Amino acid sequence: MSGCRDVGMILPEGQLKCVCRSRDQFDGSVALEYRDRHLVRVSIDPQRWTLVYRCPGTGMIWILDYPESSSHGGGNPRLRQLTQMDG
Ligand SMILES: [Zn+2]
Repeated sequence: MSGCRDVGMILPEGQLKCVCRSRDQFDGSVALEYRDRHLVRVSIDPQRWTLVYRCPGTGMIWILDYPESSSHGGGNPRLRQLTQMDG
């Protein structure tokens, strides 16, 4: 079920305010910044270069990928919210 992570009301220094309920996509450097400063990594798909993250506050799942990455290391990062499948 849920992990042991402390979900406090006070954000640590440098963390971003949670906007997971009002945004469902970030592109470019904003995607990486939001990921770095807010989200918790869940898993990695090394074959598709897809990374899965979770919001520590809301539990919402985010997918980071590089849709334009035809070449190694290329492409703009894109962070999309995964619609939760309930039931
Ligand atoms: Zn959030």
